[in-house]
Amino acid sequence: MSVVVPRTLTDALSAMAANPSALLLQGGTDLMVEINFNHRKPVDVIALRRVAELRAVKIDGKTISIGAGLPYQEMETGQIAQLVPALGQAARTVGSPQIRAAGSLGGNLGTCSPAGDGLPVLSALDAMINLRSASASRAVSIHEFMVGVKRNAKMPDEIIVSATMPIVRGWQGYAKVGVRNAMVISVASCCLVVDRAAGTVAVALGAVGPTVIRCRQAEQWLATKVDLKQTATIDAKLAAEFGQRVATEARPIDDHRSTADYRRHAVAKLSGRLLQRSGAQ
Ligand SMILES: Cc1cc2nc3c(=O)[nH]c(=O)nc-3n(C[C@H](O)[C@H](O)[C@H](O)COP(=O)(O)OP(=O)(O)OC[C@H]3O[C@@H](n4cnc5c(N)ncnc54)[C@H](O)[C@@H]3O)c2cc1C
Repeated sequence: MSVVVPRTLTDALSAMAANPSALLLQGGTDLMVEINFNHRKPVDVIALRRVAELRAVKIDGKTISIGAGLPYQEMETGQIAQLVPALGQAARTVGSPQIRAAGSLGGNLGTCSPAGDGLPVLSALDAMINLRSASASRAVSIHEFMVGVKRNAKMPDEIIVSATMPIVRGWQGYAKVGVRNAMVISVASCCLVVDRAAGTVAVALGAVGPTVIRCRQAEQWLATKVDLKQTATIDAKLAAEFGQRVATEARPIDDHRSTADYRRHAVAKLSGRLLQRSGAQ
């Protein structure tokens, strides 16, 4: 196996252009598992760990761009957790401290598992995914980027550089259910974002469909029931009905982690509780 270790994004892009079949390695917390299980046998690897540009955080007042290689531990606290609280919360649920020291949003996007904890947050915030190849750059909406179970819209010679999301004035939260409290892949997850300036709510679900699901009908229904520009206590009955409506948009399956019925129940509860929390703050 050949391993190229570029120090700049330009060098990484040149290495990709020269060999688009090479596998990109960031933290390795997904890729090394696949290699260890013989699910993948890469011939050439481009290790991105030394590319500082991929760990950059850029804030322009209205938006924040988070480098694809930034490890989760940098999102758990500090400025990112303050400006994008749902991402901070999601980051704190990923694996263990060791996994959070290495794993990245770029890797979550690269793997594109419907259970990836960063992805419902990016969906609820309508994030843009910034991609580059040696000859071009483009920004793709997260909704077009995630195309199916472990499938995304990245071209073979592209590197995910960063994800850009708005800094929302309002409330946001992330919650997940798993078989235990830590070191667990989501059985069901939910991100809820209330934008007080726009008077809108966004709800995205993880692990209950082939990819992350945005619940547009429940979002629209809620906007007719509550003035989302104001903070107001959310009645338990309203939260429960909202949860039921969210659950009807899920497309869960039975698998080794859980059943479709339980997953539907879980997203109803998670979304209802997040909505109630949004009204309390
Ligand atoms: C014990 C354990 C626990 C885990 N727990 C969780 C959990 O709770 N929640 C969760 O969401 N995930 C979890 N994971 C999975 C994993 O940690 C995450 O998906 C993480 O985000 C992967 O990031 P990485 O940098 O390690 O990716 P890597 O393994 O380096 O790469 C993953 C994929 O993305 C591609 N890739 C990486 N960077 C780029 C880039 N810049 N451009 C294009 N493609 C790229 C790679 O080629 C590869 O296909 C866990 C894994 C383990 C081993």
